[in-house]
Amino acid sequence: MTTEHFDIFVIGAGPGGYVAALKAAQMGAKAAVAEQHHLGGTCLNYGCIPSKALLSSAELLHSVQNARKWGVTVSGEVGFDWQEITKHKDKILRQLRGGVASLFKGRGVTQLTGHGNLDGAGRLVVTPSDGPARVVTAGKVIIATGSVPVRIPGWPTDAAVVCTSDEAVHWTSLPKKLLIVGGGVIGCEFACMMQAFGVAVTVVEMLPSLLPTLDQELGKALLAIFKGRGISCYLDTKVEGMELAAGGAAVKTRLSNGETLEFDRVLVAVGRRPNTEQLGLDSAGIQTSKRGFVPVNDHLETNVAGHYCIGDANGRCLLAHAASAHGVAAVENALGHAKPFVSPIPSAVYTFPEIASVGLSEQEARDQGLPIAIGRFPIGHLGKAMAARHTDGFVKMIRHRETGQLLGAHMLGQNATECIAATTALLHQKASMQDVADTVWAHPTISEAIKESAEDALNMGLHLPPRKIIRAPVGG
Ligand code: FAD
Ligand code: NAD
Repeated sequence: MTTEHFDIFVIGAGPGGYVAALKAAQMGAKAAVAEQHHLGGTCLNYGCIPSKALLSSAELLHSVQNARKWGVTVSGEVGFDWQEITKHKDKILRQLRGGVASLFKGRGVTQLTGHGNLDGAGRLVVTPSDGPARVVTAGKVIIATGSVPVRIPGWPTDAAVVCTSDEAVHWTSLPKKLLIVGGGVIGCEFACMMQAFGVAVTVVEMLPSLLPTLDQELGKALLAIFKGRGISCYLDTKVEGMELAAGGAAVKTRLSNGETLEFDRVLVAVGRRPNTEQLGLDSAGIQTSKRGFVPVNDHLETNVAGHYCIGDANGRCLLAHAASAHGVAAVENALGHAKPFVSPIPSAVYTFPEIASVGLSEQEARDQGLPIAIGRFPIGHLGKAMAARHTDGFVKMIRHRETGQLLGAHMLGQNATECIAATTALLHQKASMQDVADTVWAHPTISEAIKESAEDALNMGLHLPPRKIIRAPVGG
C-alpha cells in the first residue's frame, strides 16, 4: 500500500463535504475527499433535489386542478405522467452529480471512491467496493458523513411497502392509500405532494402539532390547509404496531387511539440518525453523543485537535445549507483563519403554500424568558396576494422588547422560502425591528408582509386596525 499525504481530507461528499473540499482547494490546500456512493450525498440523491423535482410537478398539478379559481378553464382530463416526472428528476440528479465531479476536477480536488475509515488520528483507509484499499494521511480531517433515515425496529422490513424517504423519492409507482408516520418536514412535504397526485394520505404525528420544531402557529395553519384538502391528520397519536396483510400487499397499523387502519404503503419519516458508525472514530479518540452525533465546538472542531465534523453528522442542524456553511467555516478554521460559526440558519419547507422560518420561535423566546413583542400580518391583506389569488398565510416576527432587536421571522405563504432570505440577511446583520420596518420593500410583492409584520411588532402598522392610538408629539 502506498501512503499519500494531504493537507485536508474530507470523508463524505454531500453538501457539507464537497463544499469543504472545494473551499480547501480554493484556499491553496492539497485536498482530497472520499465518497462511498454518489457525489452530492443525501441532498442531491435522496433529499432536497429529488423531492423538490417531484414537488414541482405536484404543485403545478394542484394549480391546474384549481385553475377555475384564476378564471382559467382546462378542458379534458387533467392527469400526469409519473414516468416523465421521474425521468426529469433522474436526469437532473445525473447532471448535478456530474457538476460536482467537474468542480473537483477544475479545482484539483483528489476524489477517492470508497468507504473512508479512520485508522488513528490523521490516518485514513479508503476501501472501494472493488480493488485495493488506499491509505492516506492528512494534516486536518473533516468528517462529513451525514445521516440516514431512522427505521423502527419490529416493523415490516419489506422496503416496497414500508419505506423511508430513501425509497420514496425514487418510487416507480404511486400508492393508493398512504400512511405517513411523522408530521415533521419530510412527512408534511410528502403529504402535500402525494395528495396532489391523487393519493389518499393519512399523517400520524406523536406530538400535538405538525412541524413541531417550528413556531407552533405554522403547524396549526398548515393543519387547517391539509384538512381542507382531505389529508387525514392524527396528532398526539402514535403508531403502536404494524404488520403485513393481504399476502404482503397491505399494511395493517394499530394506532395509540385504538383504531386499526390499513394502507397499501407506509412512509416512515420519524427523523434521521448520524452516519458515524464504522468510521473508526474510536481509533482516533473522537467522542460521540449517546445518539451517535459527533459533538463539536463553535469552530466545528471535535474533541481531537485538527479533526472537524460538519453537517448532519454533528447534529447541530440537519439542513443542506447548514452543512455547506459548516464546510466553509471548518476549512477556514483548519487553515488558521479562526472564526466561530454563529450564523442564523433559515429553514424552508416546500409544502404549497410554503413555510419558512429563521431565528427564535415564540415558544423558544418565551422558554428563554426573553421580553418579546410579536408582530403579525396576514398575507391575504396584500394587493399582490389578492391579485395572484394566493391569499393563504401570514408573517410573524419576534422582537426583543428592550433591545428592539429582531429575534425571529416565521412565514407561511406563496414564495415564503424565497422571502425568508431577506429576514435571514437582516438577522445575520443583527438588525433591529426598526431596521426591518425602515427598509423599503418592493410593491406589489408578498415580501411586503415582512415590513408590515415588523411595523405591527413596533405597534406602528398602517394597514391593520390600530391596537392603540399612539399620539406623536406635535412640533416637538
Ligand atoms: P449527506 O448529504 O448525508 O452526505 C454524506 C455523504 O457521506 C454521503 O454521500 C455518504 O455516502 C457519504 N459517506 C458516509 N460515510 C462515508 C464513509 N465512511 N466513507 C465515504 N463516504 C461516506 N435540507 C435542506 O436544506 N433543504 C431541503 O429541501 C431538504 N430536503 C430534504 C428532503 C429529504 C427527503 C431528506 C431526506 C433530506 C432533506 N434535507 C433538506 C436535508 C439534507 O439532505 C441534509 O441536511 C444534507 O444532505 C446533509 O448534508 P451532509 O453533507 O452533512 O450529509
Ligand atoms: P423531523 O424531525 O422533521 O420529523 C419527524 C417527526 O416524526 C417529528 O415531528 C416527530 O415528533 C415524529 N415522530 C417521531 N417518532 C414518531 C412515531 N413513532 N410516531 C409518530 N410520529 C413520530 O424528521 P424528518 O421529517 O424525518 O426529516 C429528517 C430531517 O431531514 C429533518 O431534520 C429535516 O431538517 C431534514 N429535511 C429538511 C427538509 C427541508 O429543509 N425542506 C425537507 C425534508 C427533510
